[in-house]
Amino acid sequence: ESAALSRIGLAGLAVMGQNLALNIAEKGFPISVYNRTTSKVDETLDRAAAEGNLPVSGQYSPRDFVLSLQRPRSLIILVKAGAPVDQTIAAFSEYMEPGDCIIDGGNEWYQNTERRISEAEQKGLLYLGMGVSGGEEGARNGPSLMPGGSFQAYDNIRDILEKVAAQVEDGPCVTYIGEGGSGNFVKMVHNGIEYGDMQLISEAYDVLKNVGGLSNEELAEIFAEWNRGELESFLVEITSDIFRVRDEFGGGELVDKILDKTGMKGTGKWTVQQAAELSVAAPTIAASLDCRYLSGLKDERENAARVLREAGLEEEIGTAGSGGIDKKRLVDDVRQALYASKICSYAQGMNLLRAKSLEKSWDLNFGELARIWKGGCIIRAVFLDRIKKAYQRNPDLASLVVDPEFAKEMVQRQAAWRRVVGLAVSAGISTPGMCASLAYFDTYRRARLPANLVQAQRDLFGAHTYERIDRSGAYHTEWTKLA
Ligand code: NAP
Repeated sequence: ESAALSRIGLAGLAVMGQNLALNIAEKGFPISVYNRTTSKVDETLDRAAAEGNLPVSGQYSPRDFVLSLQRPRSLIILVKAGAPVDQTIAAFSEYMEPGDCIIDGGNEWYQNTERRISEAEQKGLLYLGMGVSGGEEGARNGPSLMPGGSFQAYDNIRDILEKVAAQVEDGPCVTYIGEGGSGNFVKMVHNGIEYGDMQLISEAYDVLKNVGGLSNEELAEIFAEWNRGELESFLVEITSDIFRVRDEFGGGELVDKILDKTGMKGTGKWTVQQAAELSVAAPTIAASLDCRYLSGLKDERENAARVLREAGLEEEIGTAGSGGIDKKRLVDDVRQALYASKICSYAQGMNLLRAKSLEKSWDLNFGELARIWKGGCIIRAVFLDRIKKAYQRNPDLASLVVDPEFAKEMVQRQAAWRRVVGLAVSAGISTPGMCASLAYFDTYRRARLPANLVQAQRDLFGAHTYERIDRSGAYHTEWTKLA
């Protein structure tokens, strides 16, 4: 009987769970699977048979599921984040024994993981909160994995994770992230960065389409071309593909028929909330979140367009006389603006991680994080190798902006970047992400800001005191008496 025990188990057989289970089985690790609604167990078994008689064992009760695993047991759960995770843990833990481990692969709020780590500890159980990125495709063929929590638990399944993860030239896209909820936190910031990337790409599209007048066919070609250079990435690649898909309900491309309202599930919001909590500026990521909120106000936006048109706003602000746009140059400028904006967005995400790492003593390795994002995940990009190298050159780098290589690249691109943002502003095409990145760059790089005036105001109305540039100490001035 014990010969038939599985090496690992996975519960929660929706999109992610089913695919990850088949991936694990395909790498030669016998796996037990379970789902609350047992029809999904059968569905998974059918797929396992169809995809090459993979070693998957279907289980139909929590008890049978737990007892079908080799000890120490490692049991992955991939159910809806929040209460379902607690309910699933409760169902399994009564059959688990000290030394066994629960691995939550969902997009969980890191503090829930930290609570569950201590609850598990009281029962002698180990716990991992493991971020999984790459969607359906990644789960099946190689995701990026961000496990945090018990190192022992990680070590127990390290061989599995290293085989199952996406493979890049410098290793599998998995590393032990750190203690506590660090794996979930890193995954959350990954998603925040993903929001920023998607926003910046959509702005590039908006400028090329509405200022440059490019067709979907031209856009498909340009994104494909960009994907052969410094912008090479999963998101740029799929963007090119999207522009080519025809609408099955009529003429033209599908992209033009999609309602301009963006959905979201919360990790972007958490990222921005954490940035505010830790006093880290993340304006590009915040702009992408704000844009999703504004996109949701479709009726209000249609009304605003009407009211302002009636008030005399021209339909195409400032582009009326722009028949002389040099398309080739615009495309080249937008490429550079996108790249420079991306560097600033990643700088924000990495600095948020650094602040949290210091607060929680997680000792995050930023070069390693960039490396495991090179494959499998949604933000995978050639550019992440440059980020990895920047942190290898200097693990204490204050910002990617001041890495000598990135600094050079930003300087080379800033003229094009300013042209694109300027053109968009005068054409009335909002580019909140690119503007936020540029403002971030210009604020961060200036040795003197107008914050002196804000300090003077604070001191005048609130006696908050100020420091001086030429002598030490805190000063207060009776401003109104002197004015
Ligand atoms: P999901 O839609 O988030 O969740 C569905 C699964 O949760 C089903 O197996 C369902 O079981 C189970 N479930 C829900 N409530 C439950 C409860 N109270 N008790 C027990 N089981 C319960 O599935 P998903 O899209 O595969 O995502 C799983 C996790 O991975 C989530 O945390 C998600 O955020 C994260 N994630 C998803 C993606 C993606 O691309 N979809 C990418 C990365 C990470 P029943 O079948 O019985 O209802």
